[in-house]
Amino acid sequence: MPEIPRVKLAVIGGSAILGSGFPKDFEGIEIIGENIIYDTPFGPTAPFTHASIDGEPFLFVPFHGITREIRNTTPNSAAERVFYVLMKAGVKKILGCALCGSTNRLLDPGDVVIPDGFVDYTTKRAQSLTRSLREKGVDVDVIMYRLHQPFCPTLSRLLIEGAERAGFKRVFRRGIVGVAEGPRLESPSEIRLRYTNVGIDVVTMNLVPEVIFAREIGACYATLQLVSNYGEGLVETTWTGPEAFREFRERWCGAAAQALHWALRHIDPEDMSCGCDRYRWRAFLP
Ligand SMILES: [Zn+2]
Repeated sequence: MPEIPRVKLAVIGGSAILGSGFPKDFEGIEIIGENIIYDTPFGPTAPFTHASIDGEPFLFVPFHGITREIRNTTPNSAAERVFYVLMKAGVKKILGCALCGSTNRLLDPGDVVIPDGFVDYTTKRAQSLTRSLREKGVDVDVIMYRLHQPFCPTLSRLLIEGAERAGFKRVFRRGIVGVAEGPRLESPSEIRLRYTNVGIDVVTMNLVPEVIFAREIGACYATLQLVSNYGEGLVETTWTGPEAFREFRERWCGAAAQALHWALRHIDPEDMSCGCDRYRWRAFLP
């Protein structure tokens, strides 16, 4: 099994950049290694790409580290495997992305939301990487953390600018993401009662545990949420699964990857003035 490299940057891919060719086909990027499967206490990971952007090395894993064999639900979830690697690599800045459904009636497909809040409705996800590692017999400190400022304001600003430069007409600088367990989509009543009525703007499935594991390992995290469809019952019901997503992907996923690429290029890996790493500490009790 290959050794985990030391890198400060990481991109966790999602369906928002599917088929975009990221990172390989993008300017300033050199591939160091592809299809690298790392060994973790939770089992082997999905294939990573180890690359550099303008000489700064980074790790990329597609689709949140989820494969046919590796799910994001416990035990031995995709996120636990991915974040074990990012922790060992010493990653300090993480960019994420996802497709989402609108639950705010003002949003349309093709809009981008760079969120500043989230509500976790998942039920089967790991909630603490360090506790999961302890259960596997790995000797690590258990980390507690606050979720004040769950999304890094510096990285979020870079994603906003990246999305605007990539040609998105409407880029929202704040918003609340509801995270659904899935894998099914929501019913109209669920959209209305659990999301719209309580002020949630978009719904997605894989933001948790990425956002909390990033805080746990002391890394900044921000995400680009690309609206792909209306929440069920919200505006109209005419969209149909595969065709809608195919058209959508051709139109928007390349631009979403361009936004991530621009943000990644402009990260200062040493700049911790955002303060994100101040909201964590070693637990008093194991
Ligand atoms: Zn930060």
